Amino acid sequence: MDTLSHFILGFLGGLAMGLHRKHKVTYIAFISFLAVLIDLDHFLVPLGYGTEYRSMHTVYITILMPLLLFFISAYLERGKQTARFQTFFLLLTVMLSGHVIADMIYGPVKILYPFSSQGYTIPKIDIQATSDFQSQIIGPTGIGMAAYAILIFIGAMIHDTIYHMKKKGLGFKAALTHSVKDFV
Ligand SMILES: [Zn+2]
Repeated sequence: MDTLSHFILGFLGGLAMGLHRKHKVTYIAFISFLAVLIDLDHFLVPLGYGTEYRSMHTVYITILMPLLLFFISAYLERGKQTARFQTFFLLLTVMLSGHVIADMIYGPVKILYPFSSQGYTIPKIDIQATSDFQSQIIGPTGIGMAAYAILIFIGAMIHDTIYHMKKKGLGFKAALTHSVKDFV
């Protein structure tokens, strides 16, 4: 997927999570920009700095690293009114993992590189409305988008839980129950 599409997808994810209510749109745009930076790895091989064209499109860089930073921030910001860093890394996790999901629609991504060179793709499912003409009801694009939507939904719920903990002084369990009730 092209870099502009990645940026737009990230930006829409930030809006869908409701971040624009408390943050400037430039804040969401900035994190969207950070989430497309992993595409710089396309240049590592031509420049002689790597052997793999997508060496940063791994679960370690796109999920584990931002998630770890999220938990560290949550620990450092415990008992404080602010949730600035938690929010930042939560959004970055959603956008970076969304980036890799989007790339997996179009072709294999070696998400476990360098430990495994196995490429992973969204299953090439093809459900047609009729065999008479091309009319796809469910395909890899839809599955990828659904996965991203679920990710955004979980992100929004976590963001809401943090809000209830910080602003209303609720414990984690009470805050989570509160946000689940708000959503469903
Ligand atoms: Zn990419």
